[in-house]
Order: sequence, then C-alpha cells, then structure tokens
Amino acid sequence: MTVWTEPPVGQWFVSADGVRWWFDSGDIALDFAYTGSMGDGRPEWELWNAPADLDRWVEERFGVRLDSSDADLRRAKRLRDAVAGLVTDVSQGRPQRPDQQQVVDRYAARPDVAPQLGAPVAPPTLDQVLASLAREAVHVLRDHADQIRECRGDRCAIVYLDTSRSANRRWCSMSRCGNRHKVRERRARLAALAATDPDPVRPDPTGEPA
Ligand SMILES: [Zn+2]
Repeated sequence: MTVWTEPPVGQWFVSADGVRWWFDSGDIALDFAYTGSMGDGRPEWELWNAPADLDRWVEERFGVRLDSSDADLRRAKRLRDAVAGLVTDVSQGRPQRPDQQQVVDRYAARPDVAPQLGAPVAPPTLDQVLASLAREAVHVLRDHADQIRECRGDRCAIVYLDTSRSANRRWCSMSRCGNRHKVRERRARLAALAATDPDPVRPDPTGEPA
C-alpha cells in the first residue's frame, strides 16, 4: 500500500433485500471506487449523495474533517469514476482507457497526504486525499492488475483486489456469494443423492398412517 496514513479498508453495503454486508475490497482505491455504482448507473449503489457523505467517508479513513462543496464532490466523483472504470475494465480483461488513466495520473501528480511523525503540521486537504487515492490507484492498476478480479458469484460483478496469500479468493464476500454458492452446492448434492436412491422414503401424500 502506498497511502502513507494506512487507512482502514472495507465498508458496509446494504443489498437490495435490505441485508447489511461487509465488503472488503482489498484496497482503499477500490473502496473509493465502490462509493459509487462502478459505471452501471444503479443509483442504489451511490454512497455520496451530498458533500457531507464525502466528508464522512474521508474522516473515517484519513481522520480529517473537511467541509466540502458541491464542486468538491463533483471533483471527487470524477476521479472516483475514472478509478472505477479502470478497475472494472482490468477485471474483465479489457485495456485501460487512456482518458480515465489521464484523470488518475493528473491527481497522482499532485502532493498527497504527507507522512508525519507526530501530529500533522497542517490537516490534509481534499486535494491531498484525492492525490493519495490516485497514487494508490496507480500502484494497484500498474503493479497488481493481475490480482484485480471479479466475484465468481452468479449475477455478481463485484470487483476486488485478491490479497489472499494463496491468491485464490473467489467471492466478494463469504457471507454473500460464498454462502449462496455453498447452499446451491448442498442442494445439488442432495438432489443427486435422491436421484440415485433406489428406495427413497417419501412422505405419504394422504397424511394417513400406513
Ligand atoms: Zn459476489
């Protein structure tokens, strides 16, 4: 990780059926990308509906309290959506789009959140936070592109950075797609067993004792 402050990674999502689940994306740059809909236009994935939402997200990770404007939010979303487009393309084996690379590179060229031994000399600005996120995105997209993967769950296109030691992470979350897969496997096993059972015990449809 190149971000000096080592911000915590992962965030809570609420699925369409109202279930809260924890998504560990594997990297702060992907967490950043996942504050929006990753380019598929589903408004329910948007976590940043107002500048205060951006400020809360930044405070939780960088410990700095901002007072962002609508224009700040637009700038942050522009960078975010570029990162989202790039990681999505990489996860699906497509080349990175130069216009999106340019957006990220422009932010990565600016001063980022400075490393400090003690209390910060000056609290970081939104631009420094965005520069740190852009630098981290460059690091991941350039040096770890082969670890950017798409969840293998049915109808799940969530992208994560596989940081597992064995490099075999398959799911966005074990408690979500991993669990669904286990349930489906168990059902298929039971169905296969029932099909091969020569004398299956079936409930008496009349409900009368034999
Ligand atoms: Zn999934």
